[in-house]
Amino acid sequence: MTQTILITGANRGIGLEMVRQFADTDSQVLATCRAPDEARDLQQLASWHPERITVYPLDITSSVSIAALKESIGDLPLDILINNAGSYGPTKPFGQTDPEAWMNTLRTNCIGPLQMMEIFASNVAAGSGKLMVNLSSKMGSMTDNSSGGVYIYRSSKAALNAVVVSAAHDLLQQGIIVVAMHPGWVLTDMGGPGAEMTVTESVMAMRRLMDDFKLSDSGRFIDINGADIPW
Ligand code: NDP
Repeated sequence: MTQTILITGANRGIGLEMVRQFADTDSQVLATCRAPDEARDLQQLASWHPERITVYPLDITSSVSIAALKESIGDLPLDILINNAGSYGPTKPFGQTDPEAWMNTLRTNCIGPLQMMEIFASNVAAGSGKLMVNLSSKMGSMTDNSSGGVYIYRSSKAALNAVVVSAAHDLLQQGIIVVAMHPGWVLTDMGGPGAEMTVTESVMAMRRLMDDFKLSDSGRFIDINGADIPW
């Protein structure tokens, strides 16, 4: 079955690999990124699959940019919205709090994803997949925090997890599943060279889970094996 999927941060890392794998499955992919003109890998991929991949500009921290994307796609039904775009932000140690940097990362990792879910809820409700996937991180788990530090990233993903649970409740009546997923420790610019798995492995595992989500999964925070991560 052909699915229509909207992905944020599609120009590199996990987002780019999602575009690659979904395009191989005959899906229609709406691939968004901040600077389409500079997104060489994504544009090349789109040129190989012009009938399946469309590239749109989107800066997740800008309400104007999010509204412009909505204007571009109108009422098109979406099967899956993937809030993938994210930022690690600076790792200021205890005693060096940088409120501006914190706010920017919070906008990228939490507020922007919520605005995406709000503005595209009617599109996802009109699709048959009825799924919203948010790329969270184990770093946002309080139970998993055994080393401290990384205040900005950790708190922004913990905030995203709180948003996922509320959105799961609020969208239940519309039959929309909202989940937070940890993609593993993945070899990307963010994951760094010491990471444990390739983007190919991570995205394959996440896609397998996306095929099987049910409404009863809504509000969960899970790893790539489908196991619950403690909050
Ligand atoms: P990368 O750093 O490799 O890529 C981040 C992507 O997000 C880029 O496409 C980047 O675009 C985009 N992005 C950042 N800010 C914005 C913005 N304001 N508007 C639109 N796009 C933006 O990260 P990964 O691919 O590794 O991570 C993808 C997701 O997975 C993130 O949410 C991350 O937190 C999460 N994650 C990753 C892990 C890992 O090990 N890699 C582990 C746990 C979670 P641009 O090129 O313009 O900067």
